[in-house]
Amino acid sequence: MAGPDSEFDLIRRYFDAPAAARVSGAGVRLGVGDDAALLALREGHELVASVDTLVEGTHFFPDHPAASVGHKALASNLSDLAAMGAEPSGALLSLTLPRVDHAWLAAFSQGFLALASAADVPLVGGDTTRGPLAVSVTVLGQVPAGQALRRAGARPGDRLVVTGALGGAAFGLEQETRRRAAGTGAANADAPACERLFWPNARLEVGRMLRNRARAVIDVSDGLLADLGHLCAASGCGARIDWPVVPLDPLLAQAPPAEARAAALGGGEDYELLFALPADESLDLLAFGVDAPLTVIGEFTETAGIVVVDAAGQPLDVARAGHDHFAGAEANKPEAMPTGQGTDVEARD
Ligand SMILES: [Mg+2]
Repeated sequence: MAGPDSEFDLIRRYFDAPAAARVSGAGVRLGVGDDAALLALREGHELVASVDTLVEGTHFFPDHPAASVGHKALASNLSDLAAMGAEPSGALLSLTLPRVDHAWLAAFSQGFLALASAADVPLVGGDTTRGPLAVSVTVLGQVPAGQALRRAGARPGDRLVVTGALGGAAFGLEQETRRRAAGTGAANADAPACERLFWPNARLEVGRMLRNRARAVIDVSDGLLADLGHLCAASGCGARIDWPVVPLDPLLAQAPPAEARAAALGGGEDYELLFALPADESLDLLAFGVDAPLTVIGEFTETAGIVVVDAAGQPLDVARAGHDHFAGAEANKPEAMPTGQGTDVEARD
């Protein structure tokens, strides 16, 4: 972009703000402004890198609150660092904009930078280009060499543990989809029903504490069944989920049981951590200064596949499902929001 709204001006105007300055970025030798950033790794650490792209109409609604888009673009990436047990070192932001919309940019940068500041993640590089609205964030982090948490490593007999509660983002998406279908105005960023959908949090502290404790970790971005499936596939084992103890987001108290189950098992974007904990490893993360709810929701098994059982131990009939960007035609519809769809799972009693 050239002229007064040139790439440099946009980045400087919206991302060189006081909020950005509050981020310490201790390892940053050179940030925004040169050809590339320079980051120092602490001794004995490995670089961890992850990228994620959000496209308007596919990952967020055309009237999605811009501050939430900024927050979520960074939060989803930080969640991947959390799942690796890594600490964030910096982020790079690539913005594709159909036009220069100053109100959108101001809100977007506020959402992005507020989380960057809270999580102490300096923005070390940025790029803007013209095209259909899309936001791509790359996060860089570090982890002590050899201690990164991976999807592979779970063993039969390990406890299956999840942080927080599930299904809240899917519930919010369902409400937003219905609200839009009813044509009742623009999205409200502060709607309680959309708290988890709009303002997800990455479990960075828990991830760090799981180093040398958990055997395998993944973040729940595509849905419990889908992500547990990834973890089991990488680990070469199966798992049993005890449905009655799965922690449901309080929002789901308003939903019919079948919908609540579909949201908790198949809904994505909750960004909780799911991990394999050896039977002799303490669950008491509070002892390590981390205050996060943890629930044992089942066990890893020798037998491949995932079974969901009721209170009597009887298997429930749930279709294995979760979000896959290329799985169905749904993802290609311009108005579709394929992530976190509670309707992905057919759940029956
Ligand atoms: Mg992930």
